[in-house]
Amino acid sequence: MNPTEPLRPAIPGGRIMLVGLGPGAHEHLTARARAAIAEADTVIGYVTYIRLVAELLEGKEVIRKSMTEELDRAIEALARARQGRKVALISSGDAGVYGMAGPTFEVLFQAGWTPDSGIEVEIVPGASALNTCAALVGAPLTHDFCAISLSDLLTPWPTIARRLDAVAYADFVVALYNPRSGRRTGQIVEAQRLFLRHRDPATPVAIVKSAYRPKQRIEFTTLERMTEADIGMLTTVLIGNSQTFVRDGLMVTPRGYASKYALDAGERATVDGEQSGRSLSTGLEGWLATIRASGRSATELADTYRLPEAYIRVALAGAEAPV
Ligand code: SAH
Repeated sequence: MNPTEPLRPAIPGGRIMLVGLGPGAHEHLTARARAAIAEADTVIGYVTYIRLVAELLEGKEVIRKSMTEELDRAIEALARARQGRKVALISSGDAGVYGMAGPTFEVLFQAGWTPDSGIEVEIVPGASALNTCAALVGAPLTHDFCAISLSDLLTPWPTIARRLDAVAYADFVVALYNPRSGRRTGQIVEAQRLFLRHRDPATPVAIVKSAYRPKQRIEFTTLERMTEADIGMLTTVLIGNSQTFVRDGLMVTPRGYASKYALDAGERATVDGEQSGRSLSTGLEGWLATIRASGRSATELADTYRLPEAYIRVALAGAEAPV
């Protein structure tokens, strides 16, 4: 294919649907995902995912690919779509989260595809492992969180390590995807080491294996002990933030209201100094007023708030800051 020529389909009507299957149980397959598979005449995917939806595939061409053939899957999908076929490329979870959506667009753009070139592309969202694993353990993602994949097959380790260090420092709840495989066993140990530099060893960790599949297994542990757990290819590791707790088998990250509303009286009485519906007194406005009135140096404030000194300097200068 010539990448400088706009791609034209050989036969019109072709479609590529990037379908997220969710965790694997049929109750969690969305109605649109089911309909997209029904509409497709060709289904392409990794063998395990093909097996998950086996009974929806009767009469369709099924192309099974191995885990490492991601680009082949996308190239195959494009070739079929150019023949006017309706192709469902299936992924577990969401196709856009460590899935086929990215590689597919890369292949399409390289081949000269544009959204109006006659081959329609649809992304059908699915519940990703972080949603489904979180749902099984309680409410761990109720405050800021992020996902990091420990797979170094396509990402250099220093990039992964830098991100682990940054989010551990910044107190995010973290979902670790691809934490360990037969050959990649050291990454989770390194992740733990990086986290322990910033976080309490007792930080709650949930290990969720094969969520919503027959071999589902859930284990609660701590940051200090997490590497002793049974972690494999189909495991997601959820590490709490400094406020996360486990109670009665449920992992919960508070929303943050505790500092604003007194919950103990059973009613939403506002804590002294805070106003309902307004930012916290330690929110942006209140914090700016506090640091400006403090008389403390930018260096001291940077240390107290763990923020860059240059940022504090501009914040202190406020409206008088030179532009
Ligand atoms: N597109 C997928 C992620 C693919 S990367 C999604 O959105 O969920 C593969 C990783 O996803 C696995 O190593 C594991 O960390 C996680 N994962 C996928 N399915 C899972 C399941 N059923 N239970 C636990 N973790 C799962």
